[in-house]
Amino acid sequence: MPTASERIPAAVRPLVSERARKTLDLVEKFVNEECLPADPVYHAQLGTGATRWTYPPIMTELKTKARSLGLWNQFLAGHEHGGAGFTNLEYGLMCEQLGRSRTASEATNNAAPDTGNMELLAKYGSEAQKKRWLGPLLEGEIRSCYVMTEPDTASSDATNVQLSIKREGNEYVLNGQKWWISGAGDPRCKVYIVLGKTDPNHADKYKQQSIIIVPSDSPGIEVKRMLSVYGYDDAPHGHAHLIFRNVRVPAENIVLGEGRGFEVMQGRMGPGRIHHAMRSIGAAEEALRWLLTRANAPHKQPFGKQLSEQGVILQWMAKSRIEIDAARLIVLNAAAAIDAGNAKTALVEIAQAKILVPNMALDVIDRAVQTHGAEGICQDTPLAYMWAQVRTVRIADGPDEAHLEQLGKKENKKAAEARDLIQRQVEKTDALFKKYGTKELGPCPRL
Ligand SMILES: Cc1cc2nc3c(=O)[nH]c(=O)nc-3n(C[C@H](O)[C@H](O)[C@H](O)COP(=O)(O)OP(=O)(O)OC[C@H]3O[C@@H](n4cnc5c(N)ncnc54)[C@H](O)[C@@H]3O)c2cc1C
Repeated sequence: MPTASERIPAAVRPLVSERARKTLDLVEKFVNEECLPADPVYHAQLGTGATRWTYPPIMTELKTKARSLGLWNQFLAGHEHGGAGFTNLEYGLMCEQLGRSRTASEATNNAAPDTGNMELLAKYGSEAQKKRWLGPLLEGEIRSCYVMTEPDTASSDATNVQLSIKREGNEYVLNGQKWWISGAGDPRCKVYIVLGKTDPNHADKYKQQSIIIVPSDSPGIEVKRMLSVYGYDDAPHGHAHLIFRNVRVPAENIVLGEGRGFEVMQGRMGPGRIHHAMRSIGAAEEALRWLLTRANAPHKQPFGKQLSEQGVILQWMAKSRIEIDAARLIVLNAAAAIDAGNAKTALVEIAQAKILVPNMALDVIDRAVQTHGAEGICQDTPLAYMWAQVRTVRIADGPDEAHLEQLGKKENKKAAEARDLIQRQVEKTDALFKKYGTKELGPCPRL
């Protein structure tokens, strides 16, 4: 089989450096030979009860191996802060490989939400904030959470968040509730990046919010409960419902300044969406591999035929291949658009990828599940967990509908231009009919 670098789509191949190609092949090898075999062991080491929320020892070994191979922090685009200096497109290709395994992203220190939080600190943090939090995160010594969503507000519209951040002397005091805080279950999670309101009455609703850094062991933080994803607890990472009661942090923990929460938040989002999308492409590729294996398993031949001899299964294989390859191009195009400009100039392309990919991946994974019969929905293959994980991407980081609405509004702005063009063409058609004296077959459309 050709290596990952040999499979880079022709349309983007010229944009990938020799160094990135070599690293991509190394990532693929690491995922194939180390991470995928380690995944079931990681799961088993989590055990049950108290051990669920500890740190599986196999992860330490994977991290050591990844570092010795130079596979560390590839997400950080610039070389500053020890980033690997790859473009979004190059790192996107690596994310596809990482997304095939449960352990690979963390093993290489490329796991969410740390990656987005590290980008945020690198971009907007003060020198003191970087020293205290970014350094240990880049070293993989601690982990972090991004704390935005609330149980009592429609949080896909972040202007709704209510958590209060009040200045009192040299401190800020936080009060409120948050939920779906991914990573809060991990004992190594030492820092929360929290969005709340410092000025709920500001006339500009985008200037009411601020982002503040909160140590996870601050007095007044209560983990009310851990939430499940289709029954999975996602330990040791987990998703927490948190209560903040008079939580006090030093005033210098505010990021960039009061009222600049939206600005910081938006700077954090764009590239992360591409990384998630490429990981979902990796999951879809892995599901297709399971489908192909099951369809050709000699011991599983319902009604005396190999599944791969059934036309419908062959169609699933073909459709899956087309859909994965098409979606990959959409994501890589978005990554290239960020590299050519920035996340703001590439808004449309990023939204396209964010919406399209999880839906595509869910279809592919579902076909793989169906091909396995009952085996596909239990713990004996990675497919059931993979489906649950990818399903959340249609909601997390903004639901499909919110992104579709934004995209639809942008598309609708082209209506006047579209109408003018068609109008000019209709007028020309009319003139051509007259010129040739040809009888029209029907009335002109009304515009
Ligand atoms: C697995 C997982 C992990 C997460 N991790 C984190 C995390 O680490 N930190 C964090 O802060 N949050 C996290 N979230 C929360 C996530 O970002 C929010 O759930 C998401 O932004 C949606 O907000 P909401 O749940 O409040 O839904 P709401 O805002 O109440 O929306 C509910 C539904 O309304 C519909 N809707 C919304 N807008 C529109 C529109 N414009 N047009 C039509 N319909 C619309 C959609 O169908 C949407 O699903 C996570 C979520 C999941 C599932």
